[in-house]
Amino acid sequence: MDAANSATAASSSATSDAVKGEGNHMESVSGDLETNCWGCGLRVLVSRTASVFKCGWCGAITKQNVARIDSNYTRFRRLRDQCFVSIVLLFMLFFTCAGMWAVNPIIFSVSYFVGLLHITLAAILSISTLSSFCLAAFRSAGTPPMILWGSYPAVGKGGLENHTYCHFCSKPKPPRAHHCRSCGMCILDMDHHCPFIGNCVGAGNHRPFILFLISTVISTLYVAFMTSFAALHIWPPLEDRSVSHISGVVSTEFVYRVLKDNVLSFLRSAVFLSARGLVLVYLFISSVSLGIGLSVLLWQQLSYIYVGKTYLSQLSAVDSEETTERDCQNLVRFFDCPYNAAAYLPSYWKSGKSHRK
Ligand SMILES: [Zn+2]
Ligand SMILES: [Zn+2]
Ligand SMILES: [Zn+2]
Repeated sequence: MDAANSATAASSSATSDAVKGEGNHMESVSGDLETNCWGCGLRVLVSRTASVFKCGWCGAITKQNVARIDSNYTRFRRLRDQCFVSIVLLFMLFFTCAGMWAVNPIIFSVSYFVGLLHITLAAILSISTLSSFCLAAFRSAGTPPMILWGSYPAVGKGGLENHTYCHFCSKPKPPRAHHCRSCGMCILDMDHHCPFIGNCVGAGNHRPFILFLISTVISTLYVAFMTSFAALHIWPPLEDRSVSHISGVVSTEFVYRVLKDNVLSFLRSAVFLSARGLVLVYLFISSVSLGIGLSVLLWQQLSYIYVGKTYLSQLSAVDSEETTERDCQNLVRFFDCPYNAAAYLPSYWKSGKSHRK
């Protein structure tokens, strides 16, 4: 950032004495606009052309000409998020109940032991998905800690290093924090605002959010497997299977025709499916499509954690010189595994360097 280059100096008599007393922390450069540092209140001279400048005393960064935006927008987004969260919770409830109603009788008719195993697995997956969802949705995403600011004696040298001023919250915003206009507050290590959990994904709830994604992906795989298994047990008999009995020398064209006829007769027989069969087909299609979408999101999230970044810091990294190490230790640290667990990782995943979270 150019902040330091376009930095400026203190000039007023009241504050410059104080600054001299602490050492010459601000250099004098030619400038023609006198203003106050928002962080420590010291008077600074800024070039009229500088859009960003950094205070030589407290380290606070000021961005000029930042427009303030209304709060009606936040109210509308909160309402939208509440609707989304209600829909997601209802959908999870429907998925669990419909799955139990459609699959259980068929599984128990196959084997009582397999039925009990299925009930146990389904209960574990449902509870883990719902609890991680609630933690991600209703836990605070991470608000910045309270910090003294605004007056010179209270703010020490470098006390607001690289902090910017949030014009929405009217208070300092630490580096790596972002203001979310949907939540109406600053969020530490903000990754993104997720309307489906009605909350930001930040330092406070990133882990439950990832656990929710993992749990949902495993659940959709399980639902896809169990519904296809149950559907095949109650699928009506195929109509026209004459071609499948032909044996002898086969050509590619013949194989293609046999496949086509079988698929068509399979689809035609779907007309005679019972209500339970239709629910199974619906659950299978929606779990597969949901599983694919969430797997992509999970993969993207894990790759950001692997390089020690968030979605937003990855976006801003293009403009900055900030670099982080690609390292599996980032994943281990993220999930707060005991250090011994990290020792079992393959050696090429490990590097002895230190990283920022
Ligand atoms: Zn300052
Ligand atoms: Zn803010
Ligand atoms: Zn948010």
